[in-house]
Amino acid sequence: MLFKDIFGHENIKRRLIKSVTNNRVSHAQLFLGAEGCGKFALSIAYARYICCTDKQEFDACGVCKSCQKYNKLEHPDLHFFFPNAATTKVKKPSSKSFLNDWRAFVKEKKFYISLSDWYSEINIENKQGIINAEDALDIIKVINLKSYESAYKIIIIYMAEKFYHASAPKLLKAFEEPPERTVFLLIAENQDAILKTILSRVQLVKVPKHAANDVLMFLKEHKSLESQDAAIISKIVDGNIVEAIRMADNTKDVIFYFENFANWMRLCYTRNFSDLIVWIDEMAKKTVGREKLKKFFTFSLRMARNSLLINLNSSSIMAVPNNEAGFLEKFHPFINERNILTINEEFNKALYHVERNINPKMLFMDLSFKMMKLLRL
Ligand SMILES: [Zn+2]
Repeated sequence: MLFKDIFGHENIKRRLIKSVTNNRVSHAQLFLGAEGCGKFALSIAYARYICCTDKQEFDACGVCKSCQKYNKLEHPDLHFFFPNAATTKVKKPSSKSFLNDWRAFVKEKKFYISLSDWYSEINIENKQGIINAEDALDIIKVINLKSYESAYKIIIIYMAEKFYHASAPKLLKAFEEPPERTVFLLIAENQDAILKTILSRVQLVKVPKHAANDVLMFLKEHKSLESQDAAIISKIVDGNIVEAIRMADNTKDVIFYFENFANWMRLCYTRNFSDLIVWIDEMAKKTVGREKLKKFFTFSLRMARNSLLINLNSSSIMAVPNNEAGFLEKFHPFINERNILTINEEFNKALYHVERNINPKMLFMDLSFKMMKLLRL
């Protein structure tokens, strides 16, 4: 991962590079931003730049010994810590016991990773992963090691919110006064969930969401999609490249959700009861199992939100590129300040009911009647 492999975020890249060229690399930094915004990718490109022995003006060289080891994420002075938990294979978990899985996972996801994807990668979906006491001890060991090859030792802590509270005090001193040439790069999504004592000791690097165009460029580079599909996905994921990857890997599903949502809303607005009954019947058959229904309502939430966004900023209508997204152009006037909160609440309630195995026909019937009223508010 080089800076040039990350689309957008030019200001942040410039700032990070400047900190290195001015020799002002802060020893503990927190890359904070929403899922899929590129904070982890940026932290790796930054770490690589710090360690590169032939730094160019705007990026690491990509070919020096250090860069070659970064290609494999196997630089001896690059250390990763991340949430983990016991599995059937690993009884006494710590980050180091998952390191090979971690490297493969990061590369496969093109550095756009999420906690839920990581948990499913190591089969701990039903557990709470943490960066545990063993990890804290390992971090302290790393700090006390001499660096092997590069001038700097880099310690990347993915999801600093998941720090096991009891082990944090051990590290506070390290964050405050780390040994020379040790750089902590913490990654997090939720500032409020990070221990205050950690937060007060790190320099914040706020990473905003990607622009839709960054997402589009990423999809063109990494996913073989119809350009129309890539355009739809980049518009609806709200700058979240992790979500864009999920959708791209699942394009048929996305089109299924899109078409059905559009149909459903048309039938509700026109109050076409007979066709609505047929649609509900078919939808119940096509969405057997909770997962598909959950995805459908998550998708519906996003469509409602995007409609409101278009409503608030009419210029983005121009950016909606294709036939299917043309639906949004027609649909958005029906979403407004009067109904968006209730619609949001109803879709969220639907998600809740799906979790509890409600009969989908009943759910759709009830929700359709509500939408008939809401869309005319
Ligand atoms: Zn290099």
